[in-house]
Amino acid sequence: MTGKMMDQPLLISSLIDHAERWHGETEIVSMDTDGTTRVTNWAEVAKRSRRLASCLTSLGLPFEARCATLAWNNRRHLEIYFGVSGAGFVCHTLNPRLHPEQLVYIVKDAQDQVLFFDHTFLPLVAKLQGQLNSVQHFVLMGAYDKEAAAQIDGLKFYDNLLGQSKSDFEWPQLDERSPSSLCYTSGTTGHPKGTLYTHRSTVLHSLGGNQPDGLALSAKDTVLPVVPMFHVNAWGVPYIAASVGSKLVLPGPGLDGESLVRLIDEHHVTIALGVPTIWMNLLEALKTTGSKSKSLTRTVVGGSALPPSMIPTFRDNYGVELIHAWGMTEMSPLGTINQLLQKHQNLPKKEQEELRIGQGRPTFGVNLRIVDENGDVLPNDGHTWGDLQVKGLWVIDTYMGLEETALTQDGWFDTGDVATISSDGYLVIRDRSKDIIKSGGEWISTVELENIAIGHPSIANAAAIAAQHEKWGERPVLIAVKSSDVSESDLIAFYDGKVASWQVPDRVVFVDALPLGATGKVTKIQLREMFGGILEEKN
Ligand code: ADP
Repeated sequence: MTGKMMDQPLLISSLIDHAERWHGETEIVSMDTDGTTRVTNWAEVAKRSRRLASCLTSLGLPFEARCATLAWNNRRHLEIYFGVSGAGFVCHTLNPRLHPEQLVYIVKDAQDQVLFFDHTFLPLVAKLQGQLNSVQHFVLMGAYDKEAAAQIDGLKFYDNLLGQSKSDFEWPQLDERSPSSLCYTSGTTGHPKGTLYTHRSTVLHSLGGNQPDGLALSAKDTVLPVVPMFHVNAWGVPYIAASVGSKLVLPGPGLDGESLVRLIDEHHVTIALGVPTIWMNLLEALKTTGSKSKSLTRTVVGGSALPPSMIPTFRDNYGVELIHAWGMTEMSPLGTINQLLQKHQNLPKKEQEELRIGQGRPTFGVNLRIVDENGDVLPNDGHTWGDLQVKGLWVIDTYMGLEETALTQDGWFDTGDVATISSDGYLVIRDRSKDIIKSGGEWISTVELENIAIGHPSIANAAAIAAQHEKWGERPVLIAVKSSDVSESDLIAFYDGKVASWQVPDRVVFVDALPLGATGKVTKIQLREMFGGILEEKN
């Protein structure tokens, strides 16, 4: 016997349909690549995504054809998200910050047939076009441009394509398990690999990740996704915003602190999302502009560990609650979000802050465990460290194009993170397994050393790495960027009483800036290459 309820597939087109029908007039503000601000709305975005779907279908692309984007957060990119997936094709967001060779590799691996790109990336695409053999249609995201047309044979123009297509396109009733979108891991070790999301996993992620103790976006919010749409689908925000009808402010290419402060104030942004470096820049800009970012109530911080000193700074100076979240490409990306439980509500501020520094608890749809090197499950006691594994409704099973499963024998995905989980289910990421420092058989968390350094008033940013050591195997070395004068010995003394004495960095090296990878995270591999031998040289 089966149940007697309607059986509707979970499709991305149902998200944009809902936004169109019930939140049609809610505004979408877009900083376009030509520098203009365009205000559109969900109804218009839906209409134009149907036009795009109609046009792609009439190009004769096969079902599930990959359509790539090289684009900022803007309205056309939003239309592509819904138009491409809704029509049964796969929206593949490319990260323009990757090395061109890696981009060529990824386009080939994905067999992208269409490439949509913003004007900013015209020189890049013009240079690479000869190597992008799978691409049959290059589409500039804008109106006809004679100069651009001269650079790429057969170049198509987004606005013209849409102008010629029909808006009465009907979304096909796809299988909810068919592929909808594609993101590659950044490939810091080995080649990048593709995570191929399904319509079902995307819709479930939108519902599960947005519960009241999750992202909790609503129709009352104006949302600023600073996290790029080419970084794990802007953490799913475009889909979630459509499902609840939030107003969106899409920041375009201007992601510096001052541009963000201006957007927040002009458009009354209530919630913004991004990686910690973005919020460091925003704090600086708030200071220099004198803005109090009055409308902003909360920001979601993820992608790398949140420096603890940021929580009180945002709360006390600007009345903004920082919500720490953890996830990864292979998890669509939301894994955990940090919200307090009822029993924590009356705790002193300091204790609440301690809890909030961690990465938080899993939402419905995600399960977590930590295991030892034999795969045996370790206790959730808040202090036992283990390899973090996950399972859930929007977690990868197999990388695109690979035969072998990405899972353990008993069906869990190993995240590559080392973590503790408390008895209340609060996750704390101690490190990435490949970054952790193993000194004389003991583990030292680079995250903890970095957090302490960033809490020093003269330090703007810091990264701890494992340097080779004759006696201990590895010892911690801190690479730091100063914001005002401080000496190596002062900074080392700052660790006194904050960690065990054997965990204090052996050396501090000051640099002008830390190397950042394509997703805005510090590239520790590069730092280890530069400074990993520093202790041996000395001996
Ligand atoms: P990559 O860093 O390889 O590009 P992702 O962008 O998918 O891949 O990042 C996933 C990883 O980023 C996680 O496995 C974890 O190590 C790190 N990460 C994400 N969010 C956080 C966080 N809030 N705190 C600490 N680490 C985080």
